[in-house]
Order: sequence, then structure tokens, then C-alpha cells
Amino acid sequence: MIIDLRSDTVTKPTKEMLDAMMQAEVGDDVFGEEPTVNALEKKVAAMFGKEAALFCPSGTMTNQIAIKVHTQPGDEVLCDVTAHIYNYEGGGMASNSGVQAKLLQGDRGRISVEQVKQNINPSYDWLTNTSLVCIENTGNRAGGSYYSLQQMKELSEVCKSYKLNFHLDGARIFNAIVENDYTPADIGPLFDSVSICLSKGLGAPVGSLLVGDREFITKARRVRKVFGGGMRQAGYLAAAGIYALDHHVDRLNEDHHRAKHLSEVLSKLSYVDSILPVDTNIVIFNLKSSVSPDSFLTSLSEQGIKAAGFGQQAIRFVTHLDFTDDMLMKVEETLKNMTWK
Ligand SMILES: *Cc1c(COP(=O)(O)O)cnc(C)c1O
Repeated sequence: MIIDLRSDTVTKPTKEMLDAMMQAEVGDDVFGEEPTVNALEKKVAAMFGKEAALFCPSGTMTNQIAIKVHTQPGDEVLCDVTAHIYNYEGGGMASNSGVQAKLLQGDRGRISVEQVKQNINPSYDWLTNTSLVCIENTGNRAGGSYYSLQQMKELSEVCKSYKLNFHLDGARIFNAIVENDYTPADIGPLFDSVSICLSKGLGAPVGSLLVGDREFITKARRVRKVFGGGMRQAGYLAAAGIYALDHHVDRLNEDHHRAKHLSEVLSKLSYVDSILPVDTNIVIFNLKSSVSPDSFLTSLSEQGIKAAGFGQQAIRFVTHLDFTDDMLMKVEETLKNMTWK
């Protein structure tokens, strides 16, 4: 048994999800004739209280399309220093859209209204035009932290009053939703666009959605084609997404409980220096300086457990659909039995 805690992207479709995929009705999505893709787009747009949605191959693509549609070359995007769009999308905002980021130092990935206000450039010819604010909920590099509805509302108001576009990188928005008392319909209207990943905690093999108003999605559809993301009989993938939204949202709580359990186990280990607060399904902890992260990861992997180094002394575990209670017990036992001088 291999236990893979490197990411929640490692899940494989369940038998029921594969059945749903096999039964999908398909057509050519570039011609707009993909019944299952159309059904998924309609479903997600309605969930988030938006006019339209666009099915894309990845969350990187949905974010990059949003940045492209919301900005002009030379513009500036405000985001947290930990943002996925800045750190993990290959410099895409520069190469795809010709824009630069101004990085804000948020509270575990969460930026504030004051920070946004202080960093909007006045409109002098020599200053960069601030046109987009992007937040991440939950924050990935930030360790799975989430925004409250109130925080998102306040940011939305400030973006409206300064005429800035407001994008949500909601790769793991459903992880935030199950921990809070807000719904997709509460969130959608606060943003000009929202990106949602189906292939993380929701357990679909491939796919992300971008939601927004009709005019935005019409532009986004063009950019998707230019980026090479126009797919044909993508209904097989969309069917997995529909299945995931119907069956794999509520169970995200289980992933969160297992992540919290892991953090409790880690908190009692002598070789662990510190653990970031665990709010959802991501556990980031630091090993004591005497323990080499490479040796730690090698030792874990020799015992069938894969985890990810996260820079310096940090290690990341991410819980997901394919990580069961039996696996949790095995990880607990393995961690407790490891000894490091
Ligand atoms: C995973 C992720 C994405 C998208 O990643 P893809 O691998 O391109 O689907 C975007 N934002 C965040 C915060 C993520 O964790």
C-alpha cells in the first residue's frame, strides 16, 4: 500500500465516477455542441450565482485566462506573496498577459482591505496601472487557510469602489465552504471571476471551471482557444466533474478531520519544531534543524509514504479522497516510530 500525501491532485476516479464518465453523452465542445460540458458549465454557473462558466483543462489555465481578460499589458495585479498565480504558474502572468504582480504580505495568505487600498497606484503616467486583485481561498502555500465571508465582502467593496477587477483563485473553494457558513451563491456575486478545481479534493481526474458574467466568459472562451485549451469530446471529463460536485463536496470534512489528527500527532513528536495551524486539508510543519528534510522524506518513502518538501525545513501533507482511516493509522504509527537525533 502506497500512501500519497504529496497533494490532493493524486486521487484516481472511483468506480462510480468512472461509470458516470462512461455513460456521458458527448459532442464537440469547440463547436459548442458538448452536452455534458454544457451541463457542467450551466450547473456551476448557477451554483455560484453567475451567468456563465467555462470548462478548462487546469486551474493554471482558468487563472491565466482570467488575468488575461481582466488586464492590459503593463498593468499590475495585487496578490499575496504566497499566491499560486505568482509562485506556481511558471511566470504566466508576465508571459501570457504582460503584467506584473505587486506582492502583499497577508496574514497566512489573506490580504486585507487596508493593504489593497495602500497599494493601488494613483493614475500618474509613470506609475503602473493597478487593474486586478486576486485572492486565494483556501490558500495553498499559506497552508489551507480560508477567508471569512465578511473579509471577502469588504475586499469586493473596495475593488468595486476603485474599479478594480476581483478574481478568486478558488482551486479549493469547497474546502473553505464546508468549514464555513457560506455557500457558492454567497461567494460568486462578490467576484468578477472565480476559478474552481475539480481535480483536487473533489477527486475528478482533470478539469477546472472559470465562472463570470456572459461578456467575461465570451472573452475567456476566445482566450482558452488561443491558449490551446479548446477540447473536443470533453464530456467524458465533465461527467466526472458533475459526479464530483454531486457526491464529493460534503465528504471534504473527513479530509479536514484527518488533517487535524495528523497535526495533533505531529505536535507530540520530538523532531518536529512547529506546525502551521490546520484549517482544512493541508498540514505544513517544520522539522527541527538537526533533521534533514531529504532524509526524512526518504525514510518515509521507504515505508510507503510519500510527502512533499516545502522549502527549508518544511514538509507538507495534503489529505484527500484516497487517504483512508487505515492509511491515517499507518502514517501515525510510522511517524511515532521514527527516531532522529
Ligand atoms: C492547484 C492549484 C491551482 C491550479 O493548478 P493546476 O494544477 O493547474 O490545476 C491554482 N491555484 C491553487 C491555489 C492551486 O492549489
